[in-house]
Amino acid sequence: MMTPQTGISGQSRAGLTPSLDRIDELGIVGAGGGGFPTAVKFKTQASLLIANAAECEPLLHKDKELLHHYAEPFLRGMTMAMELVGAREGVVGIKEKYLDIIAAIEAQAPAGIRVASLPDCYPAGDEFILVHMVTGRVIPPGGLPKDVDCAVANVETLMNIGLDRPVTHKYLTVAGAVAHPVTLRVPIGITIGEVIDAAGGPTVPDFGVLLGGVMMAKPAADLNVPVTKTTGGIVVLPAEHALIRRHNAPWMHIAKIGRSACDQCRFCTEFCPRYLLGHPIEPHAAMRSLGFSQPGDLTVATLYCCECNLCTMFACPEDLDPKNVCVQGKPIARERGLTWKGTPESIQPHPMAEYRRVPMRRLIAKLGLGEFVNEGPLTEHEFAPRKVTLPLKQHAGAPAVAVVKCGDSVRVGDLIAAPEAGKLGARIHASIDGRVSVGADAIVIEA
Ligand code: SF4
Ligand code: SF4
Repeated sequence: MMTPQTGISGQSRAGLTPSLDRIDELGIVGAGGGGFPTAVKFKTQASLLIANAAECEPLLHKDKELLHHYAEPFLRGMTMAMELVGAREGVVGIKEKYLDIIAAIEAQAPAGIRVASLPDCYPAGDEFILVHMVTGRVIPPGGLPKDVDCAVANVETLMNIGLDRPVTHKYLTVAGAVAHPVTLRVPIGITIGEVIDAAGGPTVPDFGVLLGGVMMAKPAADLNVPVTKTTGGIVVLPAEHALIRRHNAPWMHIAKIGRSACDQCRFCTEFCPRYLLGHPIEPHAAMRSLGFSQPGDLTVATLYCCECNLCTMFACPEDLDPKNVCVQGKPIARERGLTWKGTPESIQPHPMAEYRRVPMRRLIAKLGLGEFVNEGPLTEHEFAPRKVTLPLKQHAGAPAVAVVKCGDSVRVGDLIAAPEAGKLGARIHASIDGRVSVGADAIVIEA
């Protein structure tokens, strides 16, 4: 295997001036999954910037690999981001098990940036949990890191700022039942099928694909789904694997079994990371509501669920699905105007919170993932796709609007779509050279 150098080596970016306009121009969004436009996020002022390197989805290694190979642009981007948000201090939150990476970051970090070592547990990468582990502060229910004087950004997002070039490629880990679990840099818009092939292809004839990890996954409809700016991982599993079946379970089945089998043991609530943080979320109460009328009918118990899936995938001894009950209940609770009425001062983390963290090792065993390689070395692979499909909405906010027309020729990095004036969104750039066709939801570039 080759060493990873694609697109980064040999570029000196020292002396860049941090600018929100430049971040907007480059189309940088939260690369950790949220896709919130970074230029808007960094309008916030905060005295502490936390780099979220707590990657906790089993089998995914993208952020750790980026820190290992590209500490320089990452730290440059972090310094620029700190200037933009007015942060006096920067903290890289990373799992304590990555001793070599911690040592390397500590050796290279400029004054004002330090490392916080985090336990190897799930869900360490949730912003609320991360902020609490790093600072001891609790973001109030429905709040944002700025409410406790923090800003949080993903490793790849900060690296993209430091690289100072349009976001045309995405780093992601391909894991599970593939010949070579690996982290790759891929052109945005390429199909997940092509990326799986680059990892040596599936090792089983019938398989399913989970996008973004296994806990907060979205099952892929087919292999033609394009990679977007927020695709952080592709996990291939045998079609009969329990995780594939669970992620594809229909709501009627979940509700029916939940109604009849939940014994209100409260394990789902007692393990819920947000409940342990002191938030008003109680998945067992949401389950109880199934027996009456509609999920979410009884309390605000569903509204502040972060959908980490720990209750469903780890805590419930009956293999029920409290997470999806919470998800179904959210719009009902919102419609009824249910909301938390407490004050931030009233939020108290559970005294046992620290002792109820779920170690990654146990989670991987419980999920039946022990047979898969839990590594994803960053490896160079030359992709030459015949075409890419770039969705106009691959970020939070409104879809971007094409600024090219059918038949136009574009080069990698050219602007092809931008948000409408006054609307939240992000610019999109060509990820390959080629000829454009513009559809209602996506721009296709044929090489
Ligand atoms: S852990 Fe399972 S059985 Fe127990 S209350 Fe929650 S959903 Fe019901
Ligand atoms: S998915 Fe379950 S464990 Fe996670 S926050 Fe929601 S209720 Fe709590």
